Amino acid sequence: MKRCIILAHGGAGAKVVTPAQLACLAEALAAGHILLERGSTAAAAVEVTIRVMEGSGLFNAGTGAHLQLDGMRRMDASIMEGRLLRAGAVAGIEHIRHPITAARLVMEKTAHVLLISKHATRFADHFKLERQTRRPRKPALPPSRRNAMREAVTATGPQRRMLRLYEKMLGLETVGAVALDAEGTVAAGASTGGIAFMLPGRVGDSPLIGCGVYADNDAGAVSMTGLGEGIIRIAVAKEIADRLAAGASPATAARLTLKKLVVRIEGAAAGALVLAPDGRFAIRHTTPTMCAGYLTGAGRPVVADRFR
Ligand code: ASP
Repeated sequence: MKRCIILAHGGAGAKVVTPAQLACLAEALAAGHILLERGSTAAAAVEVTIRVMEGSGLFNAGTGAHLQLDGMRRMDASIMEGRLLRAGAVAGIEHIRHPITAARLVMEKTAHVLLISKHATRFADHFKLERQTRRPRKPALPPSRRNAMREAVTATGPQRRMLRLYEKMLGLETVGAVALDAEGTVAAGASTGGIAFMLPGRVGDSPLIGCGVYADNDAGAVSMTGLGEGIIRIAVAKEIADRLAAGASPATAARLTLKKLVVRIEGAAAGALVLAPDGRFAIRHTTPTMCAGYLTGAGRPVVADRFR
């Protein structure tokens, strides 16, 4: 029987992490760890941990998700387990309080991996998943500002770099988790409202298996946060997993891959949770802060706003 471990994060960025976010993260870790101790699967623990953060309204996921430029909240989530390499994801799902549960249902109840947009929402409704009751935390932009932002989003060069800086200042606050259960299976999950100032229909790394998450009992589990446009192009989660499978420690696998990300992709920034099947783990980020933590057994969750 293996030692049960859970790691979770509430995003990487430059924003000050609030005590309320750290307290919620600790609560989420405890909720996931209790399940592991009672013999639940790593996937179940990842789901419940992410649900606590999605439901809090304190993070950019579930009820706290960012709005796209048309004023709509479209969310992405994914989950993967490492025994049979099963995965499920939703992209552009609307109105659903817990997109991670929709992702897990895709994994458990369908032969597919990824459902999108209104079809994902309809799928969640079919399973009677709870809908969001809270109003968006940020009001929709007026049409004049929306047009200006749309132009900035499609800009290149210095204007684009300014926007990147602004995005970083706003913080990202996606949520994610990785877990190792008593049977030795690892799982990873992520849930997000995307980034600030997204064109309608934009999808980031979080619902893309191999980009935002990956889990393989022969390698480990990885959950990413950061600018999806960079993470996707390196397929960061799979690259970290491949390095683990080749014998690198979680810290080395994360460090080398994040280094490649920032060297190769202009403006890239990211944070990673990495958990090996033998219980070694690492939390690494290229950003000034990352709201993250872990719980490895008896005792209290360890949570902090930076790990390096
Ligand atoms: N990776 C997410 C995305 O690009 C954002 C984040 O992690 O904060 O959609």
